[in-house]
Amino acid sequence: MPEDVVTLVRAMGFAARKHREQKRKGEAGEPYVNHVIDVTLRVSDATGGEDILAILGAILHDILEDTCTTEEELTREFGPQVTSLVGELTDDKSLPRATRKQIQVETVSSKSRRAKMIKLADKTSNLISIIESPPRDWDISRRKEYFEWAHNVVLGCRGSNARLEEEFDRAYYRGIDALEEC
Ligand code: ZN
Repeated sequence: MPEDVVTLVRAMGFAARKHREQKRKGEAGEPYVNHVIDVTLRVSDATGGEDILAILGAILHDILEDTCTTEEELTREFGPQVTSLVGELTDDKSLPRATRKQIQVETVSSKSRRAKMIKLADKTSNLISIIESPPRDWDISRRKEYFEWAHNVVLGCRGSNARLEEEFDRAYYRGIDALEEC
């Protein structure tokens, strides 16, 4: 649908602007938006490009958590369904990091199927980033810890999309094998 394409491109422009000052934590210091594109590509591929809401959710998945964008602004631009989906993917940053991580593990299984698919793609993208361009200050045990936590979150996403689950598993085992050798 032509208007869907326009909305998707508009969302990508919105995300690129909002994340423009951010870089990934990895050594390569990639622009943050590269992660957004990677997650979006995974979700669109896995849904055959058919699920526009899921693709929009992927483009905007970190926008409330990591930029100054408000829910009101997001709703004005993309509607309440998108805001609600992105809201499912947004941690409460007023809580300590460990608590937020624990909450993700505990609550993910009750989230919508689209939110689970985006989580799967997000975690896969993060694992691949850690394998290919680890943050300089993350030692082996911190990387392993992240892999195990991501694995636990993904347990609650199982059954939402076989292809995304396979891609996660491949990244997980590739990373774990490499970390075990260290
Ligand atoms: Zn993300």
